Amino acid sequence: LLYNEVQDLKGTIRVYCRVRPFLQEQKDMQSTVDYIGENGNIIINNPFKQENNARKIFAFNKVFRQNVSQEQIYIDTQPVIRSVLDGFNVCIFAYGQTGSGKTYTMSGPDLMTETTWGVNYRALRDLFQLSNARTHVVTYEIGVQMIEIYNEQVRDLLVSDGSSRRLDIRNNSQLNGLNVPDASLIPVSNTRDVLDLMRIGQKNRAVGATALNERSSRSHSVLTVHVQGKELASGSILRGCLHLVDLAGSERVEKSEAVGERLKEAQHINKSLSALGDVIYALAQKSSHIPYRNSKLTQVLQDSLGGQAKTLMFVHINPEVNAVGETISTLKFAQRVA
Ligand code: ADP
Ligand code: MG
Repeated sequence: LLYNEVQDLKGTIRVYCRVRPFLQEQKDMQSTVDYIGENGNIIINNPFKQENNARKIFAFNKVFRQNVSQEQIYIDTQPVIRSVLDGFNVCIFAYGQTGSGKTYTMSGPDLMTETTWGVNYRALRDLFQLSNARTHVVTYEIGVQMIEIYNEQVRDLLVSDGSSRRLDIRNNSQLNGLNVPDASLIPVSNTRDVLDLMRIGQKNRAVGATALNERSSRSHSVLTVHVQGKELASGSILRGCLHLVDLAGSERVEKSEAVGERLKEAQHINKSLSALGDVIYALAQKSSHIPYRNSKLTQVLQDSLGGQAKTLMFVHINPEVNAVGETISTLKFAQRVA
């Protein structure tokens, strides 16, 4: 094992909370974030509640303030990411209501600007660099898959012709984490390859949607990086995979608003996010039964959740007063799995 610092993270679940800054036109708005401690505490003030009852405290592994850079976020994610090259399986999730900054954390605001790249690109860049630096000891092959889970159906986002065939999930340890074997698996060796694939993925995600944002907030996207290394001295093979998951928006929909297609979407999202929470909770409790079968998302990620695998959940907070209800339910979800 080349990175000793990751040893103690084996099989663990970490939760990081990130507070989105106010956007340009919102500079003077009141924030519901009352206090952030160095030790991972955050206090939310709910101005709609009576004063003696308005403040709620939550505790996580880390809380990132509004002004924390993409680089700093990556520095705190890097040890877990790098362990993939030592043969670990890793899941990184972005959770939160629509507009709270999930895509910003995972991808960044735009592909072209390296300084604001999110975890996805930084992770791949780092894995390429580190694997190149190790070529005298291990030779690595890296490939990626990108799928979308929408209404409990799995679609390949990397098909060049945009065909939206439904894909099956197989849970078979022989597959080494390749649980959606029919989704395109594309070899990559530099960040340019990755950017090209992301463009295809984004284009495919928009197919069949009236507005890109609408669809992307109602589906989960999973970018999976498969790594295979061959140790030169022994000839032994090691495998690891990294799942980078931009989850569907966690907001509850108003009963009056939710009819027809929208109601169906909401039910599917609700079901899969609670299934994810239940799996992580059961793992944290060291329960003998882990309910992976309750959603497509947990089935796809089955062998990267639990055992030796590492899980990192970024929960996102929108600091606006009118979001306080969702903020509190997001933090309650996160507190349960932390
Ligand atoms: P989500 O994916 O959760 O719906 P987005 O990532 O699209 O949310 O973020 C919503 C808006 O807020 C976008 O305009 C995004 O660029 C901006 N934003 C989110 N997080 C940050 C941040 N940490 N710093 C600056 N802008 C951010
Ligand atoms: Mg998004």
